Amino acid sequence: MTISNLGETVTLCGWVQKSRDLGGMTFIDIRDRYGITQLVFNMDDDQDLCKAARNLGREFVISATGMVVERSNKNLKIPTGEIEIKMTGLNVLNAAKLPPFLIEDETDGGDDLRMKYRYLDLRRNPVRNNMVLRHKMAQAVRRYLDAKDFIEVETPVLIKSTPEGARDFVVPSRMNPGEFYALPQSPQTFKQLLMVSGFDRYFQIVKCFRDEDLRADRQPEFTQIDCEMSFIEQEDILNVFEGLIRTLFKEIKGIDLPEVPRMQYSDAMRLYGSDKPDTRFGMQFTELNDVVKGKDFAVFDNAELVVGINAKGCAGYTRKQMDELTDFIRRPQIGGTGLIYMRHNEDGSLKSSVDKFYDEASLKLWAQAFNTEPGDLVLIMAGQKDKVRKQLNELRLEMGTRLGLRDKNTFSALWVLDFPLLEWDEESNRYHAMHHPFTSPKPEDIDMLDTAPGEVRANAYDMVINGTEIGGGSIRIHDRELQSLMFRHLGFSAEEAQKQFGFLMDAFEFGAPPHGGIAFGFDRLCSIFAGLDSIRDVIAFPKNNSGRDVMIDSPATIDQKQMNELKIRSVL
Ligand code: ASP
Repeated sequence: MTISNLGETVTLCGWVQKSRDLGGMTFIDIRDRYGITQLVFNMDDDQDLCKAARNLGREFVISATGMVVERSNKNLKIPTGEIEIKMTGLNVLNAAKLPPFLIEDETDGGDDLRMKYRYLDLRRNPVRNNMVLRHKMAQAVRRYLDAKDFIEVETPVLIKSTPEGARDFVVPSRMNPGEFYALPQSPQTFKQLLMVSGFDRYFQIVKCFRDEDLRADRQPEFTQIDCEMSFIEQEDILNVFEGLIRTLFKEIKGIDLPEVPRMQYSDAMRLYGSDKPDTRFGMQFTELNDVVKGKDFAVFDNAELVVGINAKGCAGYTRKQMDELTDFIRRPQIGGTGLIYMRHNEDGSLKSSVDKFYDEASLKLWAQAFNTEPGDLVLIMAGQKDKVRKQLNELRLEMGTRLGLRDKNTFSALWVLDFPLLEWDEESNRYHAMHHPFTSPKPEDIDMLDTAPGEVRANAYDMVINGTEIGGGSIRIHDRELQSLMFRHLGFSAEEAQKQFGFLMDAFEFGAPPHGGIAFGFDRLCSIFAGLDSIRDVIAFPKNNSGRDVMIDSPATIDQKQMNELKIRSVL
């Protein structure tokens, strides 16, 4: 309802947001999906109606009829703010108990309470807007992929486990006592089979399930935009899906995302210490082994890697600020031991925390390596290569945050390419597939599978936005022999491989086309678009950090009769 409806008689249905009783007049704000409209009840016009209005409580469901009139006291902040409805009829469709928290943009409800009454939380504008955004994004994804001839195919939810690295959720089968289905961690094998079937271009916006220990902001069930294509090379996948992401930015946020730059995995690790660098800001790593070794400073001399960053404009950091940074890198989650620094003071002088070992001439070489200017602060860490890179990555992100370089409304996307095929797992003492076992090695690296498995690169790629991995995929193996070889390197016996993946390897013998694909984390993508830190806020009914739905109180025990039917004996 807006000013263009002046003079019309209208009926509005919705919830009572709030009421104000001024004696002769009663004002009710009615809320529906589209916003808030002011209803006016006048004692002089209709006493009974006015009295009925006074009895309305918050969140009562009403149907209200009246004439659209111009408001004397306009509120130009809301679309309905120029009008009000002069009431002639009111129907209470349902009374409501006082809600346990305010149904307003800023609510007084804590997290737990809002989750317990999520259906009320979803009445609030910010939460509902997130759901609307999610809907729009899903529609835009479908439009884009449909226009590119992808077809959406539903794959089963009750399947057999697919090894994607996480634990499966399992479902007991009543008809097959002692046997279990697994819920898909992703539709990986099915989408590959669809390629063998000749579907050519597949997608699905699909629920996936992973029974992982819940780290912050993980949900046991989440949604992927899952895609697969045949007769393509990596370049085709990158182009089609870069197009998808750029289209989403354009259609949903009106942002022209520039062409997405590409970076080798090895460069990402060397320059950012991370396979998902936040490229909203520079502050790339500078390696210093050649510059600092051989000056009797044991910490540097004994380190595999000495590496640092230039925090521009931070030379004036106080003692306290420096201590904060040292405490930061020493936190157990980060595990750094020490931080060495050099200030490039405003007067041009160079001052380091290890002046005992490094004279002015040496520090000049540091300054050169980091390309410092007066006012800059160089932060250096040393240690075992992989560890120190990870630690410096955390420090770089922290400095980015401190310097305000990680604005939520700035978007920087990146393709990270050529991931290692295999990753050594300390716990099981063997190699695991870094992406999944169906990922193809780079043909030129296959020979190294026997000699240097850790060096073999995969035809695998991730898309990263603002330091978050939002999608990943690979060109697949489509040949039985190579797939068997891969399983062998992953420690599967021929029998195990046949038992678990015989269906896929058999399919490869019936004319499997070359194929590859990608999956995007849809919840994560939505949360980035919404400027939110958590994916919970873009999920209608999320679970809490212990994997519980506190609204329906799940998971829950089942009764003995169900247990008996499933031939499960109580373990309690
Ligand atoms: N199935 C993979 C995943 O869930 C994505 C892919 O390789 O397409 O990460």
